[in-house]
Amino acid sequence: MSRVYNFSAGPAVLPEEVLQEAAAEMMDYQGSGMSVMEMSHRSKVYDTIIKEAEADLRDLMNIPDNYKVLFLQGGASQQFAMIPMNLMKNGVADYIVTGQWAKKAYQEAQLYGKANCIASSADKTFSYIPDCSDLPISEEADYVYICQNNTIYGTKFPELPNTKGKILVSDVSSMFLSEPVDVSKYGVIYGGVQKNIGPAGVVIVIIREDLITEDVLPGTPTMLRYKVHADADSLYNTPPCYGIYICGKVFKWLKKMGGLEVMKERNEKKAAVLYDFLDQSKLFHGTVEKGSRSLMNVPFVTGDKDLDAKFVKEAAEAGFVNLKGHRTVGGMRASIYNAMPIEGVEALVAFMKKFEEENA
Ligand SMILES: *Cc1c(COP(=O)(O)O)cnc(C)c1O
Repeated sequence: MSRVYNFSAGPAVLPEEVLQEAAAEMMDYQGSGMSVMEMSHRSKVYDTIIKEAEADLRDLMNIPDNYKVLFLQGGASQQFAMIPMNLMKNGVADYIVTGQWAKKAYQEAQLYGKANCIASSADKTFSYIPDCSDLPISEEADYVYICQNNTIYGTKFPELPNTKGKILVSDVSSMFLSEPVDVSKYGVIYGGVQKNIGPAGVVIVIIREDLITEDVLPGTPTMLRYKVHADADSLYNTPPCYGIYICGKVFKWLKKMGGLEVMKERNEKKAAVLYDFLDQSKLFHGTVEKGSRSLMNVPFVTGDKDLDAKFVKEAAEAGFVNLKGHRTVGGMRASIYNAMPIEGVEALVAFMKKFEEENA
């Protein structure tokens, strides 16, 4: 068996311990005589799996009792529609557009009501987070929407926007469980799990209970109503059973690692290894303003497309894979999620140094 250092933005690296445990339980989950893939989602065994997953997540994130945790399908992208369908009571919402995912959410919301772009960093290719301390929040806005960590551009909100009392909705897909967050500051906090938690196919929605109502936009399908899933404890229909089981294992791994404060320290240390190198390199440069840098996704370039391509190719041959930047921005991007060990980042930097010397 040989494992590479996988810098994919998603689906992405998972803790080896978790993969090994899942492999060991593949044929016979805890004496049930079957794989978790093969069991009823209404069985007692599975009920324990999903309940424990929720309890561990609540524990990790310190989720207040007046928030529901939903395990849903459709990816983060389905939420782009589900959020306005369920929350646009006045038919108005404000969006802060800091990248492609925020833009997609903003465009989707326009199908359902009046979506306003109240701030954007499109003027500088989304390389920074705009000042959000005094934005023109609409009086009738049902919520203010952000994408808190921009996977493609490698930016993260250094602080939450001042929503002037409006509900904050946040897509945290690519920073989920990478550091502590104060859940009580959000109305909805959600993310696809395939970036930092588990296999694709699960999206976790943490939503304040008073926002879960039957008052949704006309025509909202049953499957896209938060209330339907909340009332059924995420078992309205067959949930993504196996994916939730793996997420549960990752939650336990995170608890064993010491929780989110410890993960934050680890992630800061890891990111610093790469950013410190980029800041002094003569060949490679980061593309993001310093105050807006993500701890999870680190884009960088040489300034020469051919050299970028050569780097990506040689890195892959040396066991550092998936370093090519998003197809829309080019260059390189190293995604260094929770499961990427610091050794992986140190080895990458050593390889970059060598490449720099060879290509000076
Ligand atoms: C990947 C990603 C998405 C899209 O996720 P899907 O599960 O593919 O729909 C949305 N938002 C962010 C921040 C992402 O990183």
